[in-house]
Amino acid sequence: MKKTGRVLASEREYSIIKEKDIPVSSYFGEDTFNHKAMKEKLSKDVFKKINSIIEDNGKLDIETANIVAHAIKEWAIEKGATHFAHWFQPMTGITAEKHDAFIEPIGNGEVIERFTGKQLVQGEPDASSFPSGGIRATFEARGYTAWDMTSPVFIRRNGIATTLCIPTAFISYTGEALDKKTPLLRSISAINRSAVNMLKILGNKNVKKVYTTLGPEQEYFLIDMDYFFKRQDLLLSGRAVLGAPPAKGQELEDQYFGAIKERIQSFMHDAEEELFKLGIPAKTRHNEVAPSQFELAPVFEEANIAVDHNQLVMETLKSVARNHRLTALLAEKPFAGINGSGKHLNWSLSDNEGNNLLNPGETPHDNIQFLVILIATLRAVHRHSDILRASVASAGNDHRLGANEAPPAIISAFLGEQLTKILDDIEKGIVTKATDNAIIDLGISSLPAVSKDNTDRNRTSPFAFTGNKFEFRAVGSSQSISFSATILNTIVAESLDELAEMIKSRGGDIKQAVFDVIKSEISSIKPIIFNGNNYSEEWHKEAEKRGLPNHRNTVESLPSLVTEKALALFEKYRVLSRVELKSRYHIRLERYIKDLDIEIKSMENMVSTQVIPAALQYQKSIAESIASAVQVAGDSPDLSTQMAYLKKISSLIGKLMSAMADIEKEYEKTGNIEDELKKAGHYCNSLKEKMAGVRDMSDSLELLIEDDLWPIPKFWEMLFIS
Ligand code: ADP
Ligand code: MG
Repeated sequence: MKKTGRVLASEREYSIIKEKDIPVSSYFGEDTFNHKAMKEKLSKDVFKKINSIIEDNGKLDIETANIVAHAIKEWAIEKGATHFAHWFQPMTGITAEKHDAFIEPIGNGEVIERFTGKQLVQGEPDASSFPSGGIRATFEARGYTAWDMTSPVFIRRNGIATTLCIPTAFISYTGEALDKKTPLLRSISAINRSAVNMLKILGNKNVKKVYTTLGPEQEYFLIDMDYFFKRQDLLLSGRAVLGAPPAKGQELEDQYFGAIKERIQSFMHDAEEELFKLGIPAKTRHNEVAPSQFELAPVFEEANIAVDHNQLVMETLKSVARNHRLTALLAEKPFAGINGSGKHLNWSLSDNEGNNLLNPGETPHDNIQFLVILIATLRAVHRHSDILRASVASAGNDHRLGANEAPPAIISAFLGEQLTKILDDIEKGIVTKATDNAIIDLGISSLPAVSKDNTDRNRTSPFAFTGNKFEFRAVGSSQSISFSATILNTIVAESLDELAEMIKSRGGDIKQAVFDVIKSEISSIKPIIFNGNNYSEEWHKEAEKRGLPNHRNTVESLPSLVTEKALALFEKYRVLSRVELKSRYHIRLERYIKDLDIEIKSMENMVSTQVIPAALQYQKSIAESIASAVQVAGDSPDLSTQMAYLKKISSLIGKLMSAMADIEKEYEKTGNIEDELKKAGHYCNSLKEKMAGVRDMSDSLELLIEDDLWPIPKFWEMLFIS
């Protein structure tokens, strides 16, 4: 790229003022209307009432809503808020908000600040511009937002603007979910019902509630903002559609867990401070495998909160990066040839006392409970791996899954040697009687001691048991974790119910019945268990033999959302009606087409307006240089190699131009394809290949053309200058 840009980026001084020098514990959550704020601002009675409504999923009466709204308004104004916004998660995968000022005219040109219970509880954003996947056309309905009381209200600061944000669900007037939160909340209820029922069968009479816990590990890239603004592909699509790999990639392995550069650490410090104020427990930060790649992992939380928090983490990384003149890239694979970014979604279940149900326990009872939850989860993933795979299907994630850096598109579960042996022993009948001693002899109690090191060795598995939770590693870095969590909750709820039925129908001694059911289930779920290298060729063959689906890309995967099996399951658990699930399918397919469309157009634009002009300029300067050599010295110097070099450049330019003509011709066909799935297939199978053809020629030219003429920031600049 032209020198000016490079100098700018490397020589700028960054002076970031540290705002706080006080312990995190003293301000953690200060920008949320949390327990502490509620206690301060509400009377004892109202505080008790609102908490019991939240706990029991009760209905909020309008008087209480008015009192709470008033208190929230007072609190928010003290924090500097001028506006309030219902904050929701439409099916775009990002969040949306519509701001309203608190002011209300009272005559004489004066205003007061007002915020009513109704404004707190319900809003009516103009829903028509959000994707509905056909729902609105079917029901002619507008949308409304409804306060999700289980996720705390918070303050959002953006430059000098301060806004009160109210987490809400987004629903059509006929009750269809138009967002990612509503199905998640429904799935949380579903797994609660099924898991509580199961624990009661297992003899746990005290359990009141079971909830999902989630810990999403967020990966991202950071590059200098100057470079970002000079690349329309990154700006518009999030992915560099052109660019030759740098001379140095990640082969020296000097980045992973390496010392964090000062500028980056300042950024992280700032971002974490924002997250702490929002009550988000950002715990771990480190360099990732690729140059300029990083990770942030929070302490796990209840599913609904964890989903909201992950959205805020993504938004905060982006906004704080701007203050440091950096850009946070959340796309799954911004740089071809360099490791992509994922989001390991750690998933488990907890009872109302905070006991992790996937924690191998000490007593025979704990052991049985652990086995049942484990088997139910494996069974669910075995039966519905296609749906789980579809939850992470996107154009961006297609570049990552199966690329020998992320799990393959084949979903299997890793259990580790120890646990696999325990299941084997049960299956083989080494233990047949479910006596306390026999159960203890299985060795489950000793699992925690060994699990830590044997689980961390396999990073290639898409769904790994890591000691006391499962880690779903196929989620893409830019994706909302909501859909994957919704699906996990729902499929596990189904398996818990079906296992419960089997146990009940056996009758007799309950412990023995449970044990017999586990034993009989192990053999049928075995194909999903794989402890080996998921990247290997042999595994792909073996997986096929085992009958595991291998949906290699989004177009192959998405139809799994609308099979009769999927539609019936989500309908039965009232997580998504048939119409709602079909709408998700359409939206995702449409999104896939749009994502690729943007990539293709920005590629064409960059090649036409940047790459070809630079190449022609370079060709001209070589031609002129040869011509002037001839002019000065006649035929005497041997110019044949220079002529050959000129020909090489000219030929690459010619090939690039024909590759462009090729893609244009192929692109024209998209207009004639009516069927959405077929259209997506055309992008996937034909246009992507044509893109590769264009890129190949453009990247070859990049490696030859005079550096000062090349108008686009190069990978080595973006990844190594910071
Ligand atoms: P790693 O997977 O890198 O070894 P850890 O196991 O410490 O790291 O944790 C990774 C993530 O898993 C963290 O975000 C953590 O909060 C989360 N996690 C830990 N326990 C649970 C749980 N019971 N439920 C959900 N997530 C969990
Ligand atoms: Mg992990």
